[in-house]
Amino acid sequence: MNYRITGGTLLLHEGEHIVLSDRTLYVRDGRLSFTPFADGDAFETIDASRRLVMPGLINMHTHAYMTVMRNYADDVDFNEWLFNRCMPVEDRLPQEAAYWTSLLAFSEMIRTGTTSFVDMHMFHRQSPLAAVQAGMRGFIGRGLVGEDLYTDGWSRFSQALEEKQEFESDTMQFILSPHAIYSCSDRLLQQVAEEADKHGMLKQTHLSESVSEVENCLAAKGKTPVQLLSDLGFLDDRTILAHCVQMRGNDLDIIAQKGASIVTNPASNAKLGNGFAPLAEIRQEGINLCIGTDGTASNNTLNMFREMGLVSLIHKGIAKDSTALPSEYVVNCATVHAAAALHQAGRLGTIAEDAAADLIFLDLDAPSMFPNNNPVSALCYSASGSEVTDVMIAGSFVMRRNELLTIDYERVRYEVQRVVDRYL
Ligand SMILES: [Zn+2]
Repeated sequence: MNYRITGGTLLLHEGEHIVLSDRTLYVRDGRLSFTPFADGDAFETIDASRRLVMPGLINMHTHAYMTVMRNYADDVDFNEWLFNRCMPVEDRLPQEAAYWTSLLAFSEMIRTGTTSFVDMHMFHRQSPLAAVQAGMRGFIGRGLVGEDLYTDGWSRFSQALEEKQEFESDTMQFILSPHAIYSCSDRLLQQVAEEADKHGMLKQTHLSESVSEVENCLAAKGKTPVQLLSDLGFLDDRTILAHCVQMRGNDLDIIAQKGASIVTNPASNAKLGNGFAPLAEIRQEGINLCIGTDGTASNNTLNMFREMGLVSLIHKGIAKDSTALPSEYVVNCATVHAAAALHQAGRLGTIAEDAAADLIFLDLDAPSMFPNNNPVSALCYSASGSEVTDVMIAGSFVMRRNELLTIDYERVRYEVQRVVDRYL
């Protein structure tokens, strides 16, 4: 279906600046255009009056399958949380459970305006299968761990390549995803970097998330995790680094020099007691900053509106500077910066000629948006995600008038409850 979207307030980008426009927008074969349809073209007109129409948000770091552990392991320390609570549940869950828990994640993402997600998962094929069902745009990676990619890491690595082979499409790409420097050997990280080059793939990992990770690395190797990844040839402009909370010495200079992107996860970092990434410095260094929610076991939501608010508010407080991390910059982190990190600039995260038609519509009359003194501020400071009424991905609606179209939510709830009853 093609669409003519008229009467709405469009959120457009002019470089790093956001401008609002009342232009008419066209969706043609899954792509955006400002060129009207020709006589005889079939299309539906959408009256977007009193709606803010903007690019869908891009959640740059999550673990969709983890929704089963929402509000499950809270108020415990990081090592207890990861090694004694989350990992044993992961070990107990059957593969197919992750299909339903991922669909629960996508239900929440769609309802709160996320159209693309970057995933690190532990259950072969389930996240991509669920993303296909939901119509989500995915950048998906099978979590990799171990000593050597070709021996003990082989089954996971071969699964990663199988998923790429089976599911790669216009709406789904695959990212090589070694879990962390403490769960992957130096050799494996090096091998991943080589394979990423060979296959033209992006790579992502968790980095410098906690004080103990950095201290253990310094004690064992005499260098920070950032220095370690740099020395291993892992850092370049196709690298996405989640967390980067505990930065030391010249860590930020190295990341800036290599052109890697950082994904901040403020709720997860705060909730697990890991601290706050130095976002004002990251911005000053000119590093490409994006935003992720992390998984629901550590957030406990997948709501990018809350995350955008936290990014700005926390870091104004830390910097004691009310001008730090302004709303326009933060909205960019969730849209155009994310697209740049994914090598999708101009295609995702923006309303532009020939960009992918990933759009969200927000109710400008919702109490949290009104009066409309500054809709960009509203996205960061007053919106909760409940203002999202319609969501389109690749030119197809996945939610319309608040109704999920691709996900049978009652069935998802039933199946996830069964998983909880059996395995938690
Ligand atoms: Zn994570």
